[in-house]
Amino acid sequence: MHLSNCKICNDIHQHLNLLKKKYPRYYCKPVAGSGNINSKICLIGLAPGLHGANKTGIPFTSDFSGNLIRNILKELDLEDIFITNTVRCYPKNNKPSPKTISNCQKHNFIEINKLSNIRVIITLGAVAYYQVLKLYNVNSIYNKFKHGNIVDLNEKIILISSYHCSKLNINTHRINKNMLKKIFSQAKKVIENG
Ligand code: URA
Repeated sequence: MHLSNCKICNDIHQHLNLLKKKYPRYYCKPVAGSGNINSKICLIGLAPGLHGANKTGIPFTSDFSGNLIRNILKELDLEDIFITNTVRCYPKNNKPSPKTISNCQKHNFIEINKLSNIRVIITLGAVAYYQVLKLYNVNSIYNKFKHGNIVDLNEKIILISSYHCSKLNINTHRINKNMLKKIFSQAKKVIENG
């Protein structure tokens, strides 16, 4: 089954159809990861924003978080990475249910396995963090979510954990641009050092 035809979450599928009627120019379908599949770095966010990836069909574009991330990637000359989300459809009220999150794990597995050179996975937020740990069978009890955590996923791949760069987290100062930039700089150092 191709991602764009995924109907595993029937409620989300119906909701996207309604949104398509409201916003005929929007993509309103499951959004695949995008970027360089040969990259050594993969960024995993939460889910498409209503007026961002759900509109454009490309993760982290056309909204607050997207603009911030793309800006940082440009400043660090890291624009050529692979970017995706833990959940591929815009979830109602921007909050994916546990069922939606677990349904989408299948797509995470397929997508990550296509990234044959991957060395660093950067996760934004706890949902992405725990779903990536699950993918690699890493114990989450001993590896609780924390900004700046670095976890060995296997002998080749590490995870670098960040808070999500949502408007709420920025406005409440949980995270700022410098903290985020530091995370990406760490990832860059890892791939530069072989
Ligand atoms: N846009 C995305 O594609 N993902 C997020 O997590 C936030 C905004």
